[in-house]
Amino acid sequence: MTRIFLVAVACLVAAPVPFASATEKRCSNPGAALGVSRIVEIDTKAGPLFGDFSKYEREPRFLGPKEVVLTFDDGPMPRYTKPILEALDKFCTKATFFYVGRMATAYPSMVKEVMGRGHTMGTHTWSHPLNLRRRGLARAKDQIERGIAAVELAAGQPIAPFFRFPGLSDSGPLLAYLQSRGIATFTVDVVSNDSYISSPSRLAKRTIAEIERNDGGIVLFHDIKRSTAKALPAILAQLKKRGYKIVHLRTKSQVTPIAGITDQLEKKRDKKQASRKGKPKPLPIYEALAPSTLVGGDDEPSLTELAPEPRQRVKSSAEATATAPPQSSVSGDDATSVRRTRRSRKRRARKKKVSTTSPKVPSTIGSAVRGY
Ligand SMILES: [Zn+2]
Repeated sequence: MTRIFLVAVACLVAAPVPFASATEKRCSNPGAALGVSRIVEIDTKAGPLFGDFSKYEREPRFLGPKEVVLTFDDGPMPRYTKPILEALDKFCTKATFFYVGRMATAYPSMVKEVMGRGHTMGTHTWSHPLNLRRRGLARAKDQIERGIAAVELAAGQPIAPFFRFPGLSDSGPLLAYLQSRGIATFTVDVVSNDSYISSPSRLAKRTIAEIERNDGGIVLFHDIKRSTAKALPAILAQLKKRGYKIVHLRTKSQVTPIAGITDQLEKKRDKKQASRKGKPKPLPIYEALAPSTLVGGDDEPSLTELAPEPRQRVKSSAEATATAPPQSSVSGDDATSVRRTRRSRKRRARKKKVSTTSPKVPSTIGSAVRGY
């Protein structure tokens, strides 16, 4: 029988959660802040799947009524990520970011800043292909692993074993692969639709209406969208006014990137830096920046430990092994899939909808993202 172990620890009296270190600033205005009411610390060993948008077997909802998890995908994109971080700080609250490897490679200091402000960092593939399940297993695994390696390299520190499929395009074999890697997959409960709504006021209104309809949940935003950056302060103010509580996701474990992929990315990064400056330029070190306001005031958030047991989501996980994706060759069904993928990629290139080879990463990915 599948069970979930929930251990709620009341922290106000006996064991305060060390949410903000002694060197971190407290929330400057706790009365007006949305804050963080609860931290859910997820043990990802069993590769759980959370959220409403999947046909595969998911974990039961771990959020109570009026509890919200804020998530932001596809970034970083400094011009929008920065104001989003400011808004989150202003309301002394926390979010989870699912970053794209190529974006993180383009803006490593932004990745460090997001993590330095106490948010949780997950990943969202290398280049955001919208239909990962049709890419062929080897290609899809490479997208997942390259994204993890790139974001971790940009972060310069361990990241969470949290993953979200672009377009929520999951599949049994890929979920089994993520399970084998001890990675938790997140879909969503509430879609803000910020990919389609350009008016900040309309976006705020719709998002609040959807959160109300769902009584909270895991909410999906994108920190590559102007409307999201503009609307977020109003959304957070409304959540506070309507009595919603923010739950912050964390994990004790970390994802280990595949060393060969990290090496490849590191070499490319160093070569690029060397060609620019004559010699490699060290990446900015976040520690030089002061952390901004963190949750706090008189109350500490409570802690819930969540340790889902393994689930068998597909009949056979033989094709989803824990081994690294092939670096140089594919065979059998994968080879067929790769050929199909190549053909479809050429078609897409002809249509000029998505380019996965353009070096202009930010604008390419930003314009490529549709929906999720
Ligand atoms: Zn996305």
